[in-house]
Amino acid sequence: MKFPSMAEADGRTLGDEEVAAAERVIRSGMLNSVWGTEARALEREIAGVYGSRHAIACSSGTAALHLAVVAAAPDPGDEIITTPITDFGTVAPILAQNAVPVFADVDPSDGNLDPGAVAALIGPRTRAIMAVHLFGAPARAAGLRALADEHGLTLIEDCAQAWLTELPGGRLAGTVGEVGCLSLQQWKHITCGDGGVAITDDEELARRMRLFADKGWDRAAGRSHAAFGLNYRMTELQAAVARAQLAKLPGVVAARRRTAARLLDALKGVPGVRLPRPDGHAWWLFPLVCPDGDAPELAAHLAAAGIPAHAGYLAEPLNRAPVWDAAIYGASRYPLDGYEPNPCPQAERLVERTLLVIDWNERYTTRHVETIAREIVKFRARP
Ligand SMILES: *Cc1c(COP(=O)(O)O)cnc(C)c1O
Repeated sequence: MKFPSMAEADGRTLGDEEVAAAERVIRSGMLNSVWGTEARALEREIAGVYGSRHAIACSSGTAALHLAVVAAAPDPGDEIITTPITDFGTVAPILAQNAVPVFADVDPSDGNLDPGAVAALIGPRTRAIMAVHLFGAPARAAGLRALADEHGLTLIEDCAQAWLTELPGGRLAGTVGEVGCLSLQQWKHITCGDGGVAITDDEELARRMRLFADKGWDRAAGRSHAAFGLNYRMTELQAAVARAQLAKLPGVVAARRRTAARLLDALKGVPGVRLPRPDGHAWWLFPLVCPDGDAPELAAHLAAAGIPAHAGYLAEPLNRAPVWDAAIYGASRYPLDGYEPNPCPQAERLVERTLLVIDWNERYTTRHVETIAREIVKFRARP
């Protein structure tokens, strides 16, 4: 049976509304968001959904994370604690600001940062914590918030996989940190191809992020450059499509939650699989933990049955990535001379042996769920 994929029209919610949005922008003659209206409207709408005071649209989730690191203002060589199980877009902005990524280990039940491991790594040069709500499951935001407050650190929430993820108590993921970062890349819940948004309640951080996204150009001050910045602007085409997608987001997440709940039900009591906690989950992917270490074999079985499932999520956790053995800026590694990423045994075991991710999609039906459940049960029942 065919599984709808986020790489194809039948697994996306792109339709007449997005076509009309793109046409509206093209016919207006203004494709750039400095002088257009769409990106500013998207920012207001996202700020409304999240109840945040500011939203800054930009060119990608990685750009949004870079803005967040800029807002945290590390000095060169300062440390930012983050997770080894994430997209490289979480880590690249740390390097871009000449800060040092410090990898903390994760909770083996879901791959999210373990606040105890984070606490043990906080030192005199720690400036920020970057948490990821992995696969759409809420990270331990309360524990990380408490650590950030205790030590005067900036908490950045990477919500690229976690649109409308809810934290215990009902707050949306992205509203507990100083900055929350969203992605509109092709493989996320909603998309405009590439795009990102940073949200914050803090006036000064919002100002820094806006300046950095627009070449440090304070538009109210004439052709005058107030700070170092890049061009991370979202285009009007991206913003118009993203607005149409944003209107569909609640339906996308609700549909994913419905079918994920069915799969959880169907897998209850199956031996050798640890099920994800559904609370607040936005189901970017459906992750399973195989505590006995046979996730690669289960993934191969599912893939052979036509189910889009993968073991490990990454080739290696980011603390083991080849990039740490290479020069980073020209021939230089500054400020990473002598740098050795921390071992993260839980993350390493997850990626190598125990983590399985099944692609998830708002277009899955009960039949898709039944097929997945049947194949997992069949694999577990084999002699
Ligand atoms: C996709 C993703 C990013 C990067 O977003 P882009 O829009 O692709 O730049 C960062 N972090 C996580 C957790 C992601 O899934």
